[in-house]
Parts: sequence; C-alpha cells; structure tokens
Amino acid sequence: MNTTETNTTLDMNKKSIYSLQLDELKSWLTENDEKPFRAEQIFDWLYKKRITAFEDMSNVAKGLRDKISEHFQLTTLNTAIQQTSADGTIKFLFELHDGYSIETVLMRHDYGNSVCVTTQVGCRIGCTFCASTLGGLKRHLEAGEIVAQVVKVQQTLDETNERVDSVVIMGIGEPFDNYDNMLSFLKIINHEKALNIGARHITVSTSGIVPKIYQFADEQTQINFAISLHAPNTELRSRLMPINKAYKLDDLMKAVRYYIDKTGRRISFEYGLFGGVNDSIEHAEELASLLKGIKCHVNLIPVNYVPERDYVRTPREKIFAFEKTLKNLGINVTIRREQGSDIDAACGQLRAKERKEETR
Ligand code: SAH
Repeated sequence: MNTTETNTTLDMNKKSIYSLQLDELKSWLTENDEKPFRAEQIFDWLYKKRITAFEDMSNVAKGLRDKISEHFQLTTLNTAIQQTSADGTIKFLFELHDGYSIETVLMRHDYGNSVCVTTQVGCRIGCTFCASTLGGLKRHLEAGEIVAQVVKVQQTLDETNERVDSVVIMGIGEPFDNYDNMLSFLKIINHEKALNIGARHITVSTSGIVPKIYQFADEQTQINFAISLHAPNTELRSRLMPINKAYKLDDLMKAVRYYIDKTGRRISFEYGLFGGVNDSIEHAEELASLLKGIKCHVNLIPVNYVPERDYVRTPREKIFAFEKTLKNLGINVTIRREQGSDIDAACGQLRAKERKEETR
C-alpha cells in the first residue's frame, strides 16, 4: 500500500524545534522574556499530544505561539512515500527542506514496535556492500530531523493506539560521523518529558570510528551498542569496509574492550554473510577466536541484495552451519529475521531507487 499526505512547505531558514533539549528551550524562553516553565508545556504539546501545528497549543498565549513560529519550525519532514509490507513493516520516504530524501522504517517484533532512523543524507564510509553510500555524503541531519522521524512514526501509530517501543540508529548514514547531533537526538528521545524511550530500548550501530567509540564509552549511557564487523580478520575487513584502513581491526578490538570495561555492558557485532566471501566454517572459527572472552552477541545478517553490488546470498544450510560453529565455540549468536523485503526495507534501498528514478 502506498499513501501520500498533504504536504506543507518546509522552511529552511528556521531551526527545528525538535532539536532543542528541555533546558535549551527554557533558556530560549528566558532570553525572550517568557517564563521558563512554559518549556514543559510546550514539550507536552510536542511529545505527548504530538501536535501538527503550533496553533494547536491551546494553553500557550498567541503572542508566544507567534514568537515560537517565527524562530522555529515544527514540520521538517514531508512524507513522500509510505509503504506497508505484508508483515506490517512500514517504510517512510521523507523529503527534507532542501529536496533531499531519507528513509525511516517501522518494524514489528514480538517485543514491540521498533523504528530504524537515518542520521545523514547519504554516507561517506563507502562499505562495498551498502546501498546508502552509493551517492556519497550529502549532509548531516540536525538532531531535530532525526527526532522528527520518530515523532512522525509515533503519529502514525497513534491512529491505532500503539507506541514506539524501541529505536535503532541503523538507517542511512554513519551515526558516529554525525556524533553531536546523534547524541542530542538520543538525549531528547530518552527524556521523560519528551518521548521517554528508555536507553535500554535504544541501539546505536557504528562501522567502527574508533575515537568516537572511546568518547561514547565515556558518556556512560545505558544505550545498546552495536558494531558492524563483517569480517574475522583485518585483510578481509579492509576489502569489505574501507574504514578498516583508517581504523584497523586491532585498534577496533582495543576500543571494544575499553567500552566493555568502562560500561560493564555487552556489545553486539553485526556480521553480514556475503556468499563465498566471509561465510565459510573457517571464517566462523576465526571469528570465534577473535571474540573469545569478549562479552558480546553476534547478529548474523544474510546479505540484502543491492543491484549495484555483486554480493550473493549464502545458502540457508550454510548460514545455519556458520551459526552452529559459533555456538559450539561458545559465542552468543542469532540470525537476523528479515522484514519488509517486499518493500525495499533494507538499508537505503528505497532511497537508492528513488535517486535512480530522479536521475533518469
Ligand atoms: N553506519 C552504521 C549504521 C548502519 S546499520 C553501521 O555501519 O553500523 C545497518 C547495518 O546493515 C550495518 O551493519 C551495515 O553494515 C549492514 N548492511 C548494509 N548494507 C547491507 C547489505 N546489503 N546486506 C546486509 N547488511 C548490510
């Protein structure tokens, strides 16, 4: 099913109100001769009542509403495409004020509704299997543009009285390449006066920007942390992910150990299975010895087909054999369930398709 909504004109000269922390809104109000307690009322309208126009804030005086709309914008995303898959997955293609588009996906799990958000328009990491990096990096998203993705999905779920239970930062872009905006986003969605999504229900994934892993460990959040590993040794990882040339596997594993020591939390490793490339029993054994003694979990991802990339799927029996080898060697492992494959829900595929159609 495809739907489109009546879209508003997006204003590029105003900051998104969703970029503000509660304290920042309080300071802004004080600077503008308003009472700081109004900030909580405004947050209530934004995040609990989830208004779609500033005029709807009925207990906020018109004078203040006007001031707010002079400085900030509420709508930063227009829904260009909304597709629902047979399994309930909903994929959104949102248009931004500068004409770029991004993807957000709502996934249905037995443990609840999970939203996968985008942090950048495109990506500059250049992983050889990924659709998101095909056109390079266009720009970072501001925190509010990331928050707005979750708010939009929550507004869709409001129609059926459901809620967003968890958030994964695994859409387009490298979150640690847009670190400050990503962190602001995390603080806003986690805040009890905002969306109140618990840190343990949020997961961030990185391709392995090592200095940022140390920084993230030092933040001491309770947020779940995942690393895209994809190879059990540095030569193979460099072939699949050019980032490994800048930050070698050894250095990545040192940062991983630091993170675990500092936070006491376990790490998830994402390991995409690319047919004939990294999916042999020997690779599984090498992976098990790399991860030996590390408090972690491995997520096996059968490769999502990307037309521009020539990776092929690992046959089912081989996927199970890879999983079994890891299990027998004492590694916690699961195979990621596929969702929304009928609607291009995997990693940048819908956007990649749109871009192609635009340039035709
Ligand atoms: N840039 C971050 C966030 C992306 S998360 C990161 O690299 O971790 C999305 C996950 O899907 C990453 O593990 C990514 O490596 C993986 N991925 C990307 N393209 C894929 C493909 N075609 N098949 C399987 N996994 C893919």
